[in-house]
Amino acid sequence: MRARGYAPFESSMANNALLDDIVARAAPGMVAVFDLDGCLFDTRPRQVRIFRELAALKGWPQLCAVREDHFVDWSLRTTMTNAGIDAAWVAEHEPVVRAYWERTFFSSLYVTYDHAMPGAPELVRAVWERGAQVVYLTGRDVSMAPGTEAALRAFGYPYNAVRTTLLVKPRFDMDDTLFKDQALEHIASLGTTNIYLDNEPANVNMFKTRHPDALVVFVETDHSPRADEPAAVIPWLRSFWRAVPTAGSL
Ligand SMILES: [Mg+2]
Repeated sequence: MRARGYAPFESSMANNALLDDIVARAAPGMVAVFDLDGCLFDTRPRQVRIFRELAALKGWPQLCAVREDHFVDWSLRTTMTNAGIDAAWVAEHEPVVRAYWERTFFSSLYVTYDHAMPGAPELVRAVWERGAQVVYLTGRDVSMAPGTEAALRAFGYPYNAVRTTLLVKPRFDMDDTLFKDQALEHIASLGTTNIYLDNEPANVNMFKTRHPDALVVFVETDHSPRADEPAAVIPWLRSFWRAVPTAGSL
């Protein structure tokens, strides 16, 4: 089954229970590992900004039609089609759009345009305050670290504090899953890893194989077009936003 896309304010009591499980696992000596893009951060504001900038630079007003809910996968062609842009125009201009997107999306400045996923900073703070190590494990490369650090601080994620670590790829061209697999050795030196959240099926599967007793959670936003699907034992988190019980549910 494929993820249904971002729903940052969709909440349910079942979702609350999974968030509670994550917090309950946090304790001194334990390590919680969090992915960033599509997990703790919503990258869509970064992408809308990129489209608006290119619209201005090139004089292509049709790109201003792109909104956050038009991003459903990693295809910019799909995004532009969802925005109602003419198919022939998309076919002709997609390479230029793609080149600008790649030059900007993977940059330290542009990651500061992301928004934290609503409720995620509170969750990570709760995990950290219970004494666990917090590791941010991301496919972003080292050139994107300064903006990443600024974004973590801006949205109130624990950072520049004891028991917090940011791990970025040493090289841009390194495979994300391979990097995360190799990073587990370093993470193991910090304590017992028992919480792992990621929105990439291959990553949660790799992690569950390495740490079968950990609470490995698939965050349902967007992900790569790779064919992997999360293993059946892995729970799905729809959002970090907590449902408020209604009178009828008490
Ligand atoms: Mg991700």
